[in-house]
Amino acid sequence: MLNFTQISPHVWILPRHRDKNRVQPTVGMILAAEQTILIDTGNSLKLARQIQATLAAMGAPPVSRVVYTHHHWDHTFGACVYGVPAIAHRLSHQFLTQMRQENVGETFLRTKVERNPNLILDWTAEDWAEFEIVLPEITYEGRDCLDFGDVSLELVHVGGVHAADSTVIKVVEDGVMFLGDCYYPAPGYENPADQMLDMAMLANLLDDRYDTYIDGHNPPMQTSFVRRIVHSQALLARINESRST
Ligand SMILES: [Zn+2]
Repeated sequence: MLNFTQISPHVWILPRHRDKNRVQPTVGMILAAEQTILIDTGNSLKLARQIQATLAAMGAPPVSRVVYTHHHWDHTFGACVYGVPAIAHRLSHQFLTQMRQENVGETFLRTKVERNPNLILDWTAEDWAEFEIVLPEITYEGRDCLDFGDVSLELVHVGGVHAADSTVIKVVEDGVMFLGDCYYPAPGYENPADQMLDMAMLANLLDDRYDTYIDGHNPPMQTSFVRRIVHSQALLARINESRST
């Protein structure tokens, strides 16, 4: 059984794994009255099966949809376990289609392990035989609202350098915002200037109606914390500017 954390009346998460070498981002679970909606899927079939089993043991309603924050493998590769439609931005559909055409899967992750032997990936030969990239059956552009009865999700396309398809998912009734990796640097960056977090994007996302912000690879953040880091970053930028003039 996995340890889920309850964030608000409808929102639970599987927190990201502390060991970065597991590349296991946060998975969100929205428990509506009659259905469960997942935010991202788990980074392997094994983990997705464990998520499913833990939800069943909790007595959660059946999973009806998965929503992708963006197309990266660690957020989408568990999808085929659930057998339900995926929802994502139009660009996620485009990127995942490309990944499917290029057969991104086992060889791609093997190459990652060759480059970084510390990586721990939980995939068996049977899992790879079963694996397929699940394309979003439902896509949106700009902004969309999904009504699940007692809870609704607002999807907002924010893009950014990390992934052009980044979507922020707001759990409207609960004041919880899933950020995915939207304000992170570009993956596999080479230029040190590209290692900066996009604090301007994070500042723009601050909204008084939301108390909790949950990104892919950090613990959940409260609004006061986000305000603090955004302000300290703004201050740092101002100091650097006055230094260079
Ligand atoms: Zn990512």
